[in-house]
Amino acid sequence: SAKQAGRGQYRFFDQSLNRKDVESFLLEQSFADGLGNREFVLHYQPQVDLETMRVTSVEALVRWQHPEFGLLYPDRFIGLAESSGFVIPLGLEVIRLACEQVGQWRKAGLEPVPVAVNVSPHQLARPEFPGQVAEILEACQVSPGMLEMEITETAMLDKQAVVHLHELSKAGIRLALDDFGTGYAGFAHLEAVPVDKLKIDRSLISTICNSHDDSPIVSSTIILAKRMALKVVAEGVETRDQVVHLKVAGCDMVQGYHLGRPMPAEDLPGFLEHFHRLESVA
Ligand code: C2E
Ligand code: MG
Ligand code: MG
Ligand code: MG
Repeated sequence: SAKQAGRGQYRFFDQSLNRKDVESFLLEQSFADGLGNREFVLHYQPQVDLETMRVTSVEALVRWQHPEFGLLYPDRFIGLAESSGFVIPLGLEVIRLACEQVGQWRKAGLEPVPVAVNVSPHQLARPEFPGQVAEILEACQVSPGMLEMEITETAMLDKQAVVHLHELSKAGIRLALDDFGTGYAGFAHLEAVPVDKLKIDRSLISTICNSHDDSPIVSSTIILAKRMALKVVAEGVETRDQVVHLKVAGCDMVQGYHLGRPMPAEDLPGFLEHFHRLESVA
């Protein structure tokens, strides 16, 4: 049977240590260097208010400019960062980069736009987290109202994370529940957490098509959220029909390729100027 186990092991290595695993291993090895060499950058995607058709906030989305693998998107490395614990220093770097950017836009005379960052449940649960955030805001001279945190349902299930969410909210940081409609918790957990915004996941928005289907899940989510005094943002809005439908259904904000793709920080001022000029003539 030792022989059998030996054979099994061979098979395991043959079949499982494929190119993707090797890449993941190499990525994990280069996390620390990536941070030290400032290879992580943020792209910013506009969130548009449906009442005024103005960009009222932007979401910061992390990318990794890897020296060997090129520009990497979060689906390639966030999972690895979570499992290795690297998501904690990475998440702090993201908040630092976002706050530095707010400061730079302010210096450049841009109309202030609050920035939303994605925060992992692990990061949120760390005892030092709220203090570190306060330090960054202070160092960058950014007011807490300019920072928003996008959290997931998983974070609302962790006791320590919930305590921190109350603390952050009291400090004036706004909280958004991301990817709503993909998990299990639904509205029940929302009462325990001081969330200001609900982001309806792209998978639900994509069910709104140009048919006469009234997508009852999306419309009832919007109604329920408003009953709880939450702002509602639709994610992954890709068509004009979806915008019209969402506006009729009472949605507050839209985000997606139809409005604007995530872009480097230096492109945002030009984008805003163009977008607001177009809207004022429309
Ligand atoms: P998310 O927070 O739900 O972000 C929205 C994702 O949808 C982004 O992908 C965005 O580029 C994409 N998206 C936006 N509009 C559209 C659209 O109209 N159509 C389609 N098909 N996609 C659209 P991205 O940048 O690849 O990020 C993926 C996920 O990675 C994010 O989902 C978020 O959960 C995570 N992530 C991104 N940045 C960070 C970060 O700094 N920290 C942590 N912990 N997670 C992050
Ligand atoms: Mg998000
Ligand atoms: Mg989302
Ligand atoms: Mg998502």
